[in-house]
Amino acid sequence: MSAHFSQKEFRISSVAELSKVVDALAKVLKPGDWIWLEGNLGAGKTTFVRELFRKLGHEDEVVSPSYPLMVEYEIEGQRYFHLDGYRLTGKSPWDYREWGDAIILAEWPEQLHLPAERFKYRLEFEVLSENERLIKISAL
Ligand code: ATP
Ligand code: MG
Repeated sequence: MSAHFSQKEFRISSVAELSKVVDALAKVLKPGDWIWLEGNLGAGKTTFVRELFRKLGHEDEVVSPSYPLMVEYEIEGQRYFHLDGYRLTGKSPWDYREWGDAIILAEWPEQLHLPAERFKYRLEFEVLSENERLIKISAL
């Protein structure tokens, strides 16, 4: 594990402050990393991915993968797959062995039938109030 941290905690009070968390992850993110995004409905997982992609240079829209289940992006030559297992029933429609060095950002990952040991970081989102979140990043 080559991360610069084993766990970091952020208490933020607005979407704008998500940039602190985005920066912490963007600093260590490498091709092929899989990110486990955990937290209740509306906790901020998709919003975080949107801010991360913006920081990485993506200028277009970032939609929730709740219905498509997977949305693919290419940013500065790097592939990113944004997944959401919430509505997935039955077997996963993908073969993760073909994902190569794509960076994986997975919401409701426990429902995606992916190998848990493949994930490199876990982000846990806890809602404190309408705009406040406690976000923990762990290197796995
Ligand atoms: P789901 O499991 O349904 O996909 P989600 O975790 O992806 O939910 P989002 O779709 O990102 O949640 O919704 C988070 C909502 O909370 C958005 O409307 C966002 O604007 C709002 N929000 C308010 N404050 C914050 C904050 N500090 N961080 C993240 N989101 C926030
Ligand atoms: Mg979401």
